[in-house]
Order: sequence, then structure tokens, then C-alpha cells
Amino acid sequence: MDKKPPSLFESAQRQLDEVAGILHLEPGIHAILRKPMREFQVSIPVKMDDGQTRVFTGFRVQYNNARGPFKGGIRFHPEETIDTIRALAAWMTWKCAVVDIPFGGGKGGVICNPKEMSSDELERLSRGYIDAIWEFIGPDRDIPAPDVYTNPQIMGWMMDEYSKLKGYSCIPAMITGKPLAMGGSLGRDDATSRGGVYTIIEAAKHLGIDLSATTVAVQGYGNAGSNAAILMHEIAGAKIIAVSDSKGGIYNEQGLDPRQVLQHKIETRSVINFPQAESVSNDELLELRVDILCPAALENVITDKNAPKIRAKIVAALANGPTTPEADKVLYHNGVFVIPDFLCNAGGVTVSYFEWVQCLNKWYWDEEEVHRQLSRHMTSAFQSVLAESLNRKVSMRSAAYIIAVARVAEAIKLRGWV
Ligand code: NAD
Repeated sequence: MDKKPPSLFESAQRQLDEVAGILHLEPGIHAILRKPMREFQVSIPVKMDDGQTRVFTGFRVQYNNARGPFKGGIRFHPEETIDTIRALAAWMTWKCAVVDIPFGGGKGGVICNPKEMSSDELERLSRGYIDAIWEFIGPDRDIPAPDVYTNPQIMGWMMDEYSKLKGYSCIPAMITGKPLAMGGSLGRDDATSRGGVYTIIEAAKHLGIDLSATTVAVQGYGNAGSNAAILMHEIAGAKIIAVSDSKGGIYNEQGLDPRQVLQHKIETRSVINFPQAESVSNDELLELRVDILCPAALENVITDKNAPKIRAKIVAALANGPTTPEADKVLYHNGVFVIPDFLCNAGGVTVSYFEWVQCLNKWYWDEEEVHRQLSRHMTSAFQSVLAESLNRKVSMRSAAYIIAVARVAEAIKLRGWV
């Protein structure tokens, strides 16, 4: 009989088990880290526009708060499951630890299809979600943020609902990713990509690569991918030779203007048919002879099947989970330098941390300061992971896990939980 493949959360637990072995983690600490500290399932009644009431199911998983309040996004998705949320909450714990920001990990979600809901219905659902969990979240407890199909407006409604329930005019530090006019941070829009580009700059320095002479391919031209292409071109002087989205890809070995491609995508809803470019499939794009490959769309796009064909020197994993564990091993063996996802895309949560700090202090930074602090955090995180990887002769991913888990374990120990 075929064995059932592990669920996403079981995979996350296996990754932890591996690192626990390497670190000789105390059994008590390992046991704490294998499970969420607390999780909620809530029923949210929402009056729909047609007068009927529908009851939605929502989740919040508070994975670990040894290093600080739980932190993680809220997803609105028709196929949301508690298993996915648990895995993502665990990964948030490691992500916040690897960039050394004082947060634990959490994640939330509501099973719903926002594409089929009016703005008023979404507002009532967002407020209902907060009504259900407000006693368990807050600036020093658990700080949500936007994620799949949630956005700054939704964060604004949630902040308003929470503040009213607490009896205050405005508690902006209870959530991040808010609109600027409600205490959001400058520099949040492209933070994930900018943080990723800072790690690419460090990787290139380490490998002795001159970024201004490099070629880049980006899979996925959404928020993360398009901003990464623009910043790689404008900050680092790299040549973007191929990009793609769900409809297909484009290629020009002389280089594409990433801002013009974005304009074309805004006008036509895809990068395909961009003038002066040949077409390329998403699979072909991954195997192009480029210096830097940036998967910025989906999970599991680089597997044991195509990993041997990857010719890039650096794979910068901006998407969550674009390389399978088997692919990671092949890439490491072939000398491809992989910047693992939870380091490469940690710029978003790092600027969320800056937003929280600004809201608590009621003192807002200019964009230059946000970029400076982001660069400082990402560069330092990258260098720690690189040193660990060289020291232990392990992949960057294993090194990132080792650092993250060791930091959370140390906090657990110092707090006397074991
Ligand atoms: P997005 O929805 O803005 O963009 C996704 C892009 O991928 C779109 O252009 C879409 O057309 C494209 N795409 C979808 N299917 C594809 C396929 N089969 N082949 C090629 N392209 C395809 O999403 P985003 O916010 O840019 O997120 C992208 C990835 O980055 C996700 O894995 C997300 O979890 C991760 N991430 C994003 C952020 C952030 O702040 N935006 C933070 C951390 C991680």
C-alpha cells in the first residue's frame, strides 16, 4: 500500500527533528518546539448582502512566543486548513528568529473566497474575526499582518475593531501592514524584495561575482518578483533577461526594462506579448543559463527532476518553499548557492517589525531610515547564516534552521520552561 505523503505540518516537524538532532537539543525543548503553544478555531457569523447569515471558520495558531509576541499573517482562502496554518506558523517562528527580531511565530486564516465577496461582506468578516480572537491578541501578545488575499484595508478594519473593543481611539501596534495613513510604515511595499536583494548582494560578494555583470531570471512577476527585478536592475545594475507569470514567460538576452515590463503587465494583465522579447515557458525559464535565478511565485517548482538542470550560480528563493528538500540536496551538491526562503524573503516581516516599533513609539521614520535598518538586519542575518554554513559545512538552508532553532531553544531555556 502507498504511504500517505507527509502533510505540510508533518514536513515542518521533520525539518525541526533533523535540526534537533544536529543541535543535540534537550528532549523537553524539542517537544515544546514540535507543537503549537495554542491554537484557536472560531466560527464567525457574517450577515451577507442578500440578508442571509453565513458562518465562516477561522483559525489562529500561536506557535511559539519564547522570543516575543507571536507574529504572522492572516490568509483568506477557500482551501485554508489548520494543517497549513500550523506549518506556516512554525516557519514564522524560524523566520523571525533567523533575522533576530523579537517576535515568535503565528499564523491565521479564514476559509472563504474573497473573490466572491463584496467589500462590505469582507469588512464584516474581518471585524468578526477580530471579535472572535481579540482577547488573545494585541501589541504584546500576537500581532497579525496581511497574507494571501488580505491587504492593508483589511488590516485597517481589524485595527479599528480591536481598538473599539479595547475602548481606545487607536491601537496601531496590534497589527502591521496597515495603510500609511493609519500608522503603516514607509518602505513596506517592496520590503520583501528589497530584503532579498540585500541578501543577493552579500551572496555575490561571497562568491566573487560582480553583480553589474550578471544576468537574472525571475519566475513570478507579482509583488515580490517585479520589485526584485526592478531593484536588482536599479540598485545592483544586473541585467534581467527573463521573467514570467502564470500565463508564460518572456526572454531577451540583451535585457528587459523591468519597469516597462511591469507597465505592460498592468495594462494587459500579463508579461507575455511584451514587445522585443521571445517567449519562454515557466519550466524553460528555470533552466536558463543565468547567474541569478529568483523563484518568486509558487512552492515546489524546483524538484529532484529539474534541479540537476539548474545552471544559475545563485538561487534566491523569494517565494515560500520553491525548492523541495530533495532539490535542495541536489543544488547543494552541484555547488548552486541557495539563499533559503525564510532568510531571502524575511524583509517583509522585518519591516513589519519596524512598523510595530514606530507605532509603539509614535515616531515615524523616513524611507531612507527604513532601508538603512533593513539593510543592516538582512546583511547581518545573511552573514551569520553564511558563517554557520561554512563552519559546519552544511547548506545555507540547514545553517539558517540551525541558527533559528538554537535561538528559540536558548530563549526557552533562559525563561525556565524546561
Ligand atoms: P503575487 O500574487 O503578487 O504574485 C505571484 C506571481 O506569480 C503572479 O505574477 C502570478 O501570475 C505568478 N504565478 C502564479 N502561478 C505561476 C506559475 N505557475 N508560474 C509562474 N508564475 C506564476 O504574490 P507575491 O506577494 O509576489 O508572493 C509570491 C511568493 O512570495 C509567494 O510564495 C509568497 O508566499 C512569497 N512571499 C511574498 C511576500 C510579500 O511580501 N509579497 C513575503 C514573503 C513571501
